[in-house]
Amino acid sequence: MADDAVNAPLTVAVIGSGPAGFYTAGALLEQSAVPVRVDLYERLATPWGLVRAGVAPDHPKIKAVSSVYAATAADTRFRFFGNVEVGRHVSREELVERYDAVVYTVGAQGERRLGIPGEDLPGSVSAVDVVGWYNGHPDFADRAPDLSGRRAVVIGAGNVALDVARILCSPVERLAATDIADHALDALRASAIEQVVVVGRRGPAQAAFTTAELRELPEFTGAPVDVDPAEVAEQPGEEKLSRLIRRNLAVLRDYAAALPSQPSPTSQPAPAGTRRMALRFLRSPVEIRGEGRVAEVVFARNRLEVDAEGWVSAVDTGEREVFPADLVVRAVGYKGLPLAGLPFDERRGIIPNDAGRVAGADREYVAGWIKRGPTGIIGTNRKCAVETVATLLADVAEGRLARHPRAGGVDPVGEGESWLRERQPDLVTEAGWRLIDAAERASGEPAGRPRVKLTTLDALVDTALTRTLTV
Ligand code: NAP
Repeated sequence: MADDAVNAPLTVAVIGSGPAGFYTAGALLEQSAVPVRVDLYERLATPWGLVRAGVAPDHPKIKAVSSVYAATAADTRFRFFGNVEVGRHVSREELVERYDAVVYTVGAQGERRLGIPGEDLPGSVSAVDVVGWYNGHPDFADRAPDLSGRRAVVIGAGNVALDVARILCSPVERLAATDIADHALDALRASAIEQVVVVGRRGPAQAAFTTAELRELPEFTGAPVDVDPAEVAEQPGEEKLSRLIRRNLAVLRDYAAALPSQPSPTSQPAPAGTRRMALRFLRSPVEIRGEGRVAEVVFARNRLEVDAEGWVSAVDTGEREVFPADLVVRAVGYKGLPLAGLPFDERRGIIPNDAGRVAGADREYVAGWIKRGPTGIIGTNRKCAVETVATLLADVAEGRLARHPRAGGVDPVGEGESWLRERQPDLVTEAGWRLIDAAERASGEPAGRPRVKLTTLDALVDTALTRTLTV
């Protein structure tokens, strides 16, 4: 191998520009043991993944993490290649041929299914779709949920369920100050929804909520949260539960105490002008019913059973309960999708790996949800990416990751990005994204909003390209 090839920076392609992708790029650029160059590929015209398209619009503090990603993107050793789909414009094999290492940070783009009758009736929608829709993700612009009925049931006891329920219950004036997609704002303004019931299959101590998300609900929706005191009473072995769970229970008990006499969530009218949220536990959906569209959800009443390892499961008591519903949102988790040519663990929805190194592959790595499954908060992906980068650098140091035997300084995407531009003439680079960003922020400013999102690929690409040429 020529000396200049050995001395040339390690070239790394990172696929997917969500938190895991940016933290991977950041960890590579921050270290000084090995000189690197990082190209971050993104299927969409915009970066930041779930920070733009997943985090709820009324959570601007969580979105502020994007300033960390912008700092990474400002590094001269970093390039953003948006509007490029691996498997369509460029193949995985081509990337492996051109880069010393490829790191997949593609997230979990599918949805978990309930597997019950009626799941696909009109009016039963996935939270993945609803979240993409209200966040202006171009692929989900046409997935508007039907908000013409009064009652919504959200299935699942995780943070996504709370996000969706909160957005459905929030006063529109509050949402109007956020970067929620305009099409969602219009639909929510006209929404007839009065009551949203979030239903968990296990108990309150097994819910996947984080405390801050639970505690903020009344402040955001302007209405008390309906919790059944009997469901949040002393839990078995409570003193041994984690601090997070005990804090969640305390919040739930405060809600229950503030509403002393609770009729069933299926009969309680909402106070005028407010949209009421209720949280219910120990109920698994067994059927969604309706004549041509959703009308009700049949729940099995559960009891909890603890196994020898301490895992708590929901067990059907045989008792059934029916909740009327005009809209059902299934918020039971995301699911990773396979990438052609790479191994895949169907059950866990991940690419099998050893501390980030893809099982059985050379120079291919994973980080984020496709590495460990769809869990954790945004910051969890930083630790995950740091581990993958440590594995990659150890592979370089120990000679497991051999540099490509090409002359140093050869650009993996060709002179002037020629190879990539041939494949995707509408390439959106970092400069193009900055134009999109500036245009969105400028249109938000008169209304005091952080930005007004462009929600179609055409609008995004036109903004990135037209002005890239004229500015
Ligand atoms: P999640 O945290 O995994 O919660 C999924 C929920 O669905 C759980 O309550 C689960 O119950 C339930 N579930 C699964 N299968 C079910 C079924 N067949 N029937 C009924 N219930 C079922 O997933 P998520 O809410 O989609 O969130 C994904 C990740 O993003 C999480 O780590 C979350 O914390 C994070 N996130 C964070 C924020 C934030 O920090 N603000 C916001 C949104 C998302 P079991 O526990 O019984 O399986």
